Amino acid sequence: MQKSCRYKAYSLNNFRDIPQMERLPEEIKFDIEVVGHVLPFKANNFVVDHLIDWDRVPADPLFLLTFPQRDMLLPHHYEEMAALLKGGADRAELKAAANRIRLQLNPHPAGQISHNIPSLDGENLDGMQHKYRETVLFFPSQGQTCHAYCSFCFRWPQFVGLSDLKFASREVDRLIDYLQTNPQVTDVLFTGGDPLIMSARNLAQYIEPLLEADLPNLRRIRIGTKALSYWPYRFLSDNDTEDLLALFRKVGENGKHLALMAHFNHPRELAPEPVRQAIAQIRQAGAIIRTQSPLLRHINDDPALWIQMWNEQVDLGCVPYYMFIARDTGAQHYFNVPLVRAWEIFREAYRQVGGLCRTVRGPSMSANPGKVQVLGTSEVMGEKVLQLRFIQARNPDWVHRPFFARYDEQATWLSDLKPAFGEERFFYQKEFEQDYRENLEEGHPEDYE
Ligand SMILES: *Cc1c(COP(=O)(O)O)cnc(C)c1O
Ligand code: SF4
Repeated sequence: MQKSCRYKAYSLNNFRDIPQMERLPEEIKFDIEVVGHVLPFKANNFVVDHLIDWDRVPADPLFLLTFPQRDMLLPHHYEEMAALLKGGADRAELKAAANRIRLQLNPHPAGQISHNIPSLDGENLDGMQHKYRETVLFFPSQGQTCHAYCSFCFRWPQFVGLSDLKFASREVDRLIDYLQTNPQVTDVLFTGGDPLIMSARNLAQYIEPLLEADLPNLRRIRIGTKALSYWPYRFLSDNDTEDLLALFRKVGENGKHLALMAHFNHPRELAPEPVRQAIAQIRQAGAIIRTQSPLLRHINDDPALWIQMWNEQVDLGCVPYYMFIARDTGAQHYFNVPLVRAWEIFREAYRQVGGLCRTVRGPSMSANPGKVQVLGTSEVMGEKVLQLRFIQARNPDWVHRPFFARYDEQATWLSDLKPAFGEERFFYQKEFEQDYRENLEEGHPEDYE
């Protein structure tokens, strides 16, 4: 193993200490301060020293991914916050204004708070979500933060302490009970935040009981993580790296499949030598790495970048999995790529890579009814349409049925689309809205705002 690398964290309080910051004009630093008061901001020395190309700042994509930018707030929100900071407002005033603005940024898209929380014996299982039949999401309480915060992240409200989000769980016993009573579930996905921010010991307290419980329906354990990109030393030289890799091996030894769902947004994240070594270590421990990323304006809205990313991922032994559409929350206005353009970029990249890269699916929206893929544009009997389908759906019967929306070049999300051919509703909508009424009666109107 390598010599350990010291961790240095940066946030709003100390980002001006980053040596490379000295070269930047005060204006940019002030913008970071203004926007960083509203949207979460955190970075570390690996991101600063190995990912960001400081010669290309401020346009550098990795800089934009980690440091808040002026245009990530709407102009009037920016002005409000800037005026407060310039006027020497106190902490309480800043916090109140920040929270007011945050609530206008759709902090809980796709019914996150109450809709997908499973229950057992009449009791809600906080810290879990069960939306798609085969897969339960589990949010371990110590894994709800990240090594650095991505400026597009739809989990941002939990990082700013906003909300009554009861999204974190310590209760692996309840998860096991739930899996025993729900044999249709084959996958548990540990997510956050980033569960690999946890020590190997903490992570083992979740994973080992799952293995020991001898659950025949549980086939796969997945861990969503950004650690490969933002802190690869997690798999190379942290104090408990050996224990972490041993835990990975143990999953396989117990007959379960372990998949790391890794975020990579830009091919440059695959370049550093520690990242490559980390990938090799994980694979040696018997885990599969699947990769996913949203399509982001300013960052990766260029087919050439995806071609490079998918090719290099496959070369390194990773499996391209999803290209997402940026979610309708936070700084979406800064990052969004219209659906038609997203499909063009996806197609342009997809058609130029070999079959082993074409395991990737997209572009896909994680919307309230399900994961909706944009299949393309076409013309049917004189009407221009967008063809769509569910990759995942609340009702598994909706999956893989093509459906059509009126062509709309500006649409950026499912809610912008109207059914084609003069239909009033998409095929799933009646049933979905029925579900909505039932939820209203149960007192969860916020789900469908
Ligand atoms: C994406 C997602 C999953 C996993 O879906 P797969 O297609 O199996 O990767 C599970 N639950 C929720 C809520 C999701 O958004
Ligand atoms: S690593 Fe994942 S959860 Fe963390 S900020 Fe980035 S996108 Fe969000």
